[in-house]
Amino acid sequence: MSPFKDLSRSQPNDAFYDLPPLGMDATAIAADVRHYFAHTMGQDRNSRSAYYPYEALAITLRDRLMERWKRTRQAHNDADCKRTYYLSLEFLMGRTLCNALLNLGVHDAAEQGLYDMGLVLEELASGERDAGLGNGGLGRLAACFLDSCATLELPVKGYGLRYEYGMFRQLIEDGHQLEEPDHWMRDGSPWELERPEYTQRIQFGGRTERYKDATGRPAARWVDTRDVLAVPYDVPIPGYRNDNINTLRLWKAAATDEFDLGEFNAGSYPESVAQKNAAEHITMVLYPNDASESGKELRLRQQFFLASASIKDVMREWVRLKGKNFSEFAAKNCFQLNDTHPAISVAELMRQLMDEHDLDWGPAWAITTKTMAYTNHTLLPEALERWPVRLFEQLLPRVLEIIYEINARFLAEVASRWPGDSERQRRMSLIEEGHERQVRMAYLAIVGSFSVNGVAALHSKLLVEGLFKDFYDLWPHKFNNKTNGVTQRRWLALCNPGLREFLDETIGDGWVRDLDQLERLAPYANDAVFRQRWRAIKQENKRRLAQTVKQLVHVEFPEEAMFDVQVKRIHEYKRQLLNILHVIHLYNRIKRGDTRDWTPRCVLIGGKAAPGYYMAKQIIKLINNVARAVNRDPDTEGRLRVAFLPDYRVSLMEVIAPGTDLSEQISTAGKEASGTGNMKFMMNGAVTIGTLDGANIEIREQVGDENFFLFGLTAAEVEQRRGHYDPNAVIARDSALQDVMNLLESGHFNQFEGGIFDAIIHTIRSPHDPWMTAADFQGYCEAQERAAAAYRDQEHWTRMSILNTAHSGFFSSDRTIGEYNRDIWHLDAVPPVPL
Ligand SMILES: *Cc1c(COP(=O)(O)O)cnc(C)c1O
Repeated sequence: MSPFKDLSRSQPNDAFYDLPPLGMDATAIAADVRHYFAHTMGQDRNSRSAYYPYEALAITLRDRLMERWKRTRQAHNDADCKRTYYLSLEFLMGRTLCNALLNLGVHDAAEQGLYDMGLVLEELASGERDAGLGNGGLGRLAACFLDSCATLELPVKGYGLRYEYGMFRQLIEDGHQLEEPDHWMRDGSPWELERPEYTQRIQFGGRTERYKDATGRPAARWVDTRDVLAVPYDVPIPGYRNDNINTLRLWKAAATDEFDLGEFNAGSYPESVAQKNAAEHITMVLYPNDASESGKELRLRQQFFLASASIKDVMREWVRLKGKNFSEFAAKNCFQLNDTHPAISVAELMRQLMDEHDLDWGPAWAITTKTMAYTNHTLLPEALERWPVRLFEQLLPRVLEIIYEINARFLAEVASRWPGDSERQRRMSLIEEGHERQVRMAYLAIVGSFSVNGVAALHSKLLVEGLFKDFYDLWPHKFNNKTNGVTQRRWLALCNPGLREFLDETIGDGWVRDLDQLERLAPYANDAVFRQRWRAIKQENKRRLAQTVKQLVHVEFPEEAMFDVQVKRIHEYKRQLLNILHVIHLYNRIKRGDTRDWTPRCVLIGGKAAPGYYMAKQIIKLINNVARAVNRDPDTEGRLRVAFLPDYRVSLMEVIAPGTDLSEQISTAGKEASGTGNMKFMMNGAVTIGTLDGANIEIREQVGDENFFLFGLTAAEVEQRRGHYDPNAVIARDSALQDVMNLLESGHFNQFEGGIFDAIIHTIRSPHDPWMTAADFQGYCEAQERAAAAYRDQEHWTRMSILNTAHSGFFSSDRTIGEYNRDIWHLDAVPPVPL
């Protein structure tokens, strides 16, 4: 906390506070860059690193963000408006510089100003490290949502954790994934603002003490705790050219300055101080598991740390303005829980309202269940968090008591609705009985929330039919769908400048705020001159991608080939395995001379495996081994290339999506909640090959069946097939798959690595393979043939490409956020105080 006292003798006047607005032209920007480079960073002409000019530019932009940030805050305070807090353990922000330039509208000015001093903007920008504070889709969704909220001028604040180490860096050595820690803040981050004055104290451990308060009311308090400080760091979130800057507040854990006196007196002063370090471990590292839970104590600590600090932060502001009157609290505040990760917020809000702000259970519960809203992100049971009761007892004893009380009252409600149905009570209980009792976090989130949403139409439907059916029977009004979206600012305007210019020239630039305007492109699909230019832009983007591939993995991608891309986390349900089986099939065809009417193809696969996920790591190894065998065989020259791109992340996707022809979205139907990679590809004019899963279904509805390559079992068929799935019979009936399995089983791809792919082979042949890879192989190959044939007719393909972009308006996160606001948050847009 700040060592300074409040001002008492000083009386700052307007001369101190009032500043002229900063210039937004090339000259003013150049002047500031020079100033920060020379005076703040102390650099001169001997400085050769691109980092210092980058940082000088970043601070120059931060000044301009800061001007607008304060005015946004002031507007929110003046309006005394309702606010939403987006609670998420992950925010996968990527790079910030170019986004700030785009949204502030000073990209060209900055480029010119730097150019006049002999600097190349692109070079500075490409040195920025990604802020990788997330695993994949869920974290990137949070980042897209913040961009949309700021652009729509909605008073929404993000709350997350400031991990010292983000998502690990992936290296590939001998085809295997290696993980390297990502100390992304080693050089500091110019984009954050530390706010020590808003530090909060977070409790862990200890016990509950009962007492009577001043009015004689029985009350409880949490005592003898080991506390950790939560220090906020604010990151500005600029809206698109509207001078509105929202806030992402990230908490860092810090030790309190208290000493263990016992140890101190025992003469172990250094040990006592060193002990304090442990507190700071809470925000040391992001858990690298996507769609599965680690079950580790530190992870539960992270979750509670985020929930408690964020709610205390909101409460501090509330009490400052309204005192202890909470009657309007629910009308003015909403917490949106990004998956079950912050679900403990339900119990923590109850605890703070009762133990710290003296409310009784009834009013506290009424407030909680009117302010909490929960977004579910998965249908995979292994991703649904459960925490051992034993862990709660040690770490959060008071919070556990509250969970028990919520559960008792909830089960009474179930019992009165379905008298005597004890089986139902057992199913719905927040506590799972068994040899180790566990808290079901998703159920806590549902019981405590007024809204529960899935993230694509199919996902939301399957939730109420399956996983959450009992809860839907009880509270059908709580359940709704909000199909995901992505921000077209980053995923079109920023990452595809060639297409952006062409769109602006053709239909104006209104699409950057209103993506539905892309519909105006549709008629141009029939214009041969337009198609010619569209192709030229795609070709240029493919060159850029090919260059990246060559630089990273030394594989040549000829630009006239079809670029066939699957990038996403490596997971069995996403079926990278199906993709590589098809590659082996193409290789077999080449080897047997079956290459009439061949479409040259470059297959690109990328993604990280959770470090403890054995099968995912095996799949990476297989892809790399197949790539090596294919690429070094002279028969494949001009026909097939395969590459595994290491360290897939946001800044890589910004190069990949614009250069892709065919987007692979091939998960087992009923397993991918939504997907958002699929939307980024569509926006950039890639055609999808995909199953009827997640948002693919809605993509196909928007673009039309004739512009989408559909294959595979439906979600219902997958479920029907379970119990009598017989992959060996499937393989026996399909000679192409038979050939693929023969080659795989012959050890062709692992000649000096005997047996390493046995586990993969076993799952493909197993009747218990939950992902049913073999079942979809034939349909997949047929769809790939249709795609290859379509690609040979370049005019036809270009038409499909244009129509994909033209019909992608629905997948803007502006649409998604508009729906969250209309149905759940009910916020008024608040424009910032003008400059
Ligand atoms: C969009 C995105 C994802 C999500 O991809 P899916 O295909 O929807 O799983 C994951 N990681 C990064 C870096 C992304 O940009």
